[in-house]
Amino acid sequence: MNPDYERLGEPWVTRDDIKRFRQFDSKCPGPLDLGHRDHHGTRGPGCGHQRGHGYGGQQKETNMSVQRETNMSLDTTSHPDRPGPAELIRSGYALRVGEIDALVVSDGTMSIPAATLAVNAAPAELGAWLDGMFLPARFGWPLNVGVVRSGGRTVLIDAGIGAEFPEFAGAGQLTRRLEAAGLGLESLTDVVLTHMHMDHIGGLLGVSGRLRPDLRIHVSTVEAEFWAGKADLSRATMPPGVPDALRAVAKRFLDEYHGRLQPFEKEHEVAPGVLIRRTGGHTPGHSVVRLESGGDRLMFGGDSVFPPGFDCPHWHNGFDQEPEETVRVRVGLLRELAATGQPLVPTHVSFPAAGRVAVTRDVFRWVPAYWNH
Ligand SMILES: [Zn+2]
Repeated sequence: MNPDYERLGEPWVTRDDIKRFRQFDSKCPGPLDLGHRDHHGTRGPGCGHQRGHGYGGQQKETNMSVQRETNMSLDTTSHPDRPGPAELIRSGYALRVGEIDALVVSDGTMSIPAATLAVNAAPAELGAWLDGMFLPARFGWPLNVGVVRSGGRTVLIDAGIGAEFPEFAGAGQLTRRLEAAGLGLESLTDVVLTHMHMDHIGGLLGVSGRLRPDLRIHVSTVEAEFWAGKADLSRATMPPGVPDALRAVAKRFLDEYHGRLQPFEKEHEVAPGVLIRRTGGHTPGHSVVRLESGGDRLMFGGDSVFPPGFDCPHWHNGFDQEPEETVRVRVGLLRELAATGQPLVPTHVSFPAAGRVAVTRDVFRWVPAYWNH
């Protein structure tokens, strides 16, 4: 026992503390009872789902005052423009899935208004969620990329945003970080695109000359055709200027790489145990990548789930072109992941973005993997 505790003779958390501290609904979960889902929905703290001691109006005021008092700034964004060591910590995280080697590489972060995370939520609900996550109204959305080696093939899963967009100067680190991991662009045999938003394809713009001539780019037929056509983004709720930028970047990408595309209809095995499968939702041809080898499994989830999507899977992300379908896809994947316990790597969850999906009573929960470093 801590000697201070004995001396003071009082609990660590006093009654006053309980009023001041954030409440995370931290009761130990009892036996899972998903049957209650129908009564309560799949809403977690911050989704307007009131619990016994959750985020009530008065409680929220207190929470916000705590945040102002502490006012910490944990700036974990890389600053490539500043002098200093090239890389203090390598932004790569290695995983093993049976016979398959997998690596998560951070492309950096993109500063985007947090309101885009939940365009169908009341501002107070999103505010409560952000408050509970210690996040401000604008923060760097993590942007992660996968590399997979199987059967002699080296497969890049998405390509980050690239270095051509100064408004996203915190991202575009992929090529440099791949090289630091001993993976030059020329070593890639395949690229898999979960979809063709600029933060997933931009890293390949202007580098075709550095890639192997026989490199194959796998993307769903629906996705390639969507961006080759009018690319109707009317159902999404993006910041001004973004829809035009997305269309322009996708068109440039198709111009540069149309000869290397390997479109697939529903699913395609890119390398042994590396299966890309179309889900739709976030974009019409959005896909996830499923790894399976030696009884192990792992899913690269693309943009099927964003950080609030575990607590609040019914929230629409502003980039979701088919919001209701995205929710359906998301809940289906989360239920599968919670049932199987297999690891998930979503693109926009904080690096290393590897974790599992759990269920606490009637809500999903993101459980980050322990980082073996
Ligand atoms: Zn994305």
